[in-house]
Amino acid sequence: MDASAPQLRAADLLAWYDRHRRVLPWRALPGERADPYRVWVSEIMLQQTTIAAVKPYFERFMARFPSVEALAAAPTDSVMQAWAGLGYYSRARNLHACAKTVAEQHGGRFPDTEEGLRALPGIGAYTSGAVAAIAFDRPAVAVDGNVERVITRLFAIKDEMPGAKPLIREQVQALLPHERPGDFAQALMDLGATICTPRSPACGLCPWREPCRARIEGTQESFPRKAAKKTGKTRYGAAFVAMREDGAVLVRTRPAKGLLGGMVEVPGSDWRADYEPGDALLDQPVPAQWRRLMLPVRHVFTHFPLELTVYAGRVPLETAAPEGMRFTPFNRLKEEAFPNVFLKALEAGLEELQRP
Ligand code: SF4
Repeated sequence: MDASAPQLRAADLLAWYDRHRRVLPWRALPGERADPYRVWVSEIMLQQTTIAAVKPYFERFMARFPSVEALAAAPTDSVMQAWAGLGYYSRARNLHACAKTVAEQHGGRFPDTEEGLRALPGIGAYTSGAVAAIAFDRPAVAVDGNVERVITRLFAIKDEMPGAKPLIREQVQALLPHERPGDFAQALMDLGATICTPRSPACGLCPWREPCRARIEGTQESFPRKAAKKTGKTRYGAAFVAMREDGAVLVRTRPAKGLLGGMVEVPGSDWRADYEPGDALLDQPVPAQWRRLMLPVRHVFTHFPLELTVYAGRVPLETAAPEGMRFTPFNRLKEEAFPNVFLKALEAGLEELQRP
């Protein structure tokens, strides 16, 4: 591997970027300055999610919280609700905490260096590098999955991920141009997203096709090398959709700390590998004639897959919500911050209750 191969030049990538850059709602147009607030929100939203999925959330989020001050001043519930559906809810909490820090301790201006950004809540190595480069044109390294793919292919890096990360950072650092480091960071991301794709990369259109080791060897799709994935055991549990005669549904807010912290759920059991759905009624939140749905709701979290058996039942108008729970009127359910897994359970339960 030769990082200084003469034909591997940042200038070729920048020239390609000038012709093929993607237009994105958070990206400045050529010659414009990027807005650090928009760049930061987009980078947090984009972690583990696709651009197509993020775009509508981003637009709505910006309409609701147009500035870092507006976000800092918003109640936690409304931030969580605007985030609901994006997953990884600790990010929303950190995002809110970060906005407050920027508003209260930095006069509403984001620090303009990687180190300064890194000191903010919820901003790690990747986000600090990305925001420093994109918003402030700092020569910072921002390595996301797209960049990992491009670099491991360019240099045919055979070390497995995530062990190869330091080497990838070094290679990006060595390639960083003095001029336009922010555009370079975005160009690398764009190249990975549009040309150097996981399957069938369009090497014929790539500005780095000549020096690319993987293309020369014909091994493009074997990079990046990954260690076999260890997923946790499937956990099982039950979820109860209890609808009162007036249409209100029983819900509760999860504890602030932990998985899906601060989000809203329909009540249910613990989730365990040895959970017995047959014993689920021991976990019913209120007595009802429960109907057990044929199909469980499945969801894959980072560390384990989950299978929830859903029960749906109608309860009398006078039913009191148990401690820590509440009945939300039907027409206000959409305002609750349900994460996807509970939205699925709720929708399945409501559909069941429509049946005669
Ligand atoms: S030549 Fe192909 S494999 Fe190499 S960086 Fe370009 S698109 Fe990726």
